Amino acid sequence: MLSEAEVLQRVRSLKDPEIGRTFGELDMVKAVQTTGSTVHVTIELPTPAYPGKHRISDAITAAVKEGQPDVTAVEVKFTSVVQGKMSGGAIGLRAKNVIAVGSGKGGVGKSTVATSLAYGLKTLGCKVGLMDADVYGPSVPHMVGSVDRPTAIKVRTESGEEIERIQPVDVDGLKVISMGYFLKPDQAVIWRGPLLHRAITQFLKDTDWGDLDYLIIDLPPGTGDISLTLSQLLGLAGAVVVCSPQQVALLDAIKAISMFNQVKIPILGIVENMSGEIFGRGGAKAMAEELNVPFLGELPIDSGIRIRGDAGRISTLFSEENPSREPLVQICEQVAIQVAKQLLVAPKMPTLEIL
Ligand code: ADP
Repeated sequence: MLSEAEVLQRVRSLKDPEIGRTFGELDMVKAVQTTGSTVHVTIELPTPAYPGKHRISDAITAAVKEGQPDVTAVEVKFTSVVQGKMSGGAIGLRAKNVIAVGSGKGGVGKSTVATSLAYGLKTLGCKVGLMDADVYGPSVPHMVGSVDRPTAIKVRTESGEEIERIQPVDVDGLKVISMGYFLKPDQAVIWRGPLLHRAITQFLKDTDWGDLDYLIIDLPPGTGDISLTLSQLLGLAGAVVVCSPQQVALLDAIKAISMFNQVKIPILGIVENMSGEIFGRGGAKAMAEELNVPFLGELPIDSGIRIRGDAGRISTLFSEENPSREPLVQICEQVAIQVAKQLLVAPKMPTLEIL
C-alpha cells in the first residue's frame, strides 16, 4: 500500500488537463488520506465552473492505482476557490474577475449571452454581478424580469464624508445594475463621451456589488468608448465576443476583436450564437481558429430562448429539461477556464496579425 506521502507525490506530478501545469505547481492538492484500501484525494479547482472534472478524477485514479493492486478505490473530491486578478482595488470594486461581453453589431444575441453567462456561473456556484452597460439599448432588466429597482443609501466614509451608494437589484441572488433602471422607457439620451465615462465609472465605483467572483459587463455593440473607459479603470479578465454564423456578422466580430486589441483588453474567445438552419453553423469556429482565438462554444437558434428572454425568464434556460442548458453550461465553463488560464498560465495574448 502506498503511503500518503507517496500518493501526494504521484498526484502532485500530474498535469491539470486544462491549464497544463502540474497540480503541485498550481497548489491544487488540498488533502490526501488513506483509509484501509481506499485513497481519498481533495483537489481545489480555480473555478466551480471547471469543465470535465471527471478527467481529473480519472487521471488521479489511474496514477494512484498504477502497480498498486492493494488500492481498491480512489475517491476524488473537488472544492473550488475562484482565482482572479482583483484588479478593481483602486476604485473599490471587489470583483475577482471582470468580463466584458461585446459584439460587432446589434441583434446577434449579445445581451442574451451576457445574461445567460451571469446566470450560468451563478448556477454553477459562483458569486456573480451583471452590469448592463449597453446604454443604447439596455435590455437586461427586461430579460431577467426584475420588478425591483435599485435603491440609493447614504453611507459615511472613514473620513466622515457622507456619500450615496447604489444598491443593485437582487434577482435570485444575481446582482444586477442597468441604465435601463434609470431611464424612462421612452427616454432617449444622447451619450457624449464624458457622460458615458461618468455613468460607467459610477456603476463600477458607487454600486454595492459586495464580493464577486465574476462581474459580467454587457457592452453596447460596436463602439469602443466604454471599453476604453473600462480598460482605463481596471484590468479586465478579458472580453467574450458574440457573433452569429453568417459572413457579415463574422466580419463585424473581427472588428470587435480589433477594437478590444486596441484598448488592450484580452480576448477570452468567441461564442457563436443562433447557429442552425437559418444562419448556418460553424463559421465562428473556423474564424476563431484562423485568428488563433479560443472558441467558447455555440448556442443553437431556438425559439425557446427568444420566448424566455421576452418573458423575463432567462434563468429558466438552466432548468434541467431545457435543450439550451447544455450548450450554455459549456460556454460558461469555457469562459471560466479561459479566465483561469489567463491568470495561471500567463500566456501570450493572441494578437491579430492581419490588423
Ligand atoms: P443583442 O444584445 O446582440 O442586440 P439580444 O440578446 O437582445 O441581442 O437578442 C436579440 C433577439 O434575439 C432577442 O429577441 C433574443 O431573445 C433573440 N435571441 C438571442 N439568441 C437567440 C437564440 N440562440 N435563439 C433564438 N433567439 C435568440
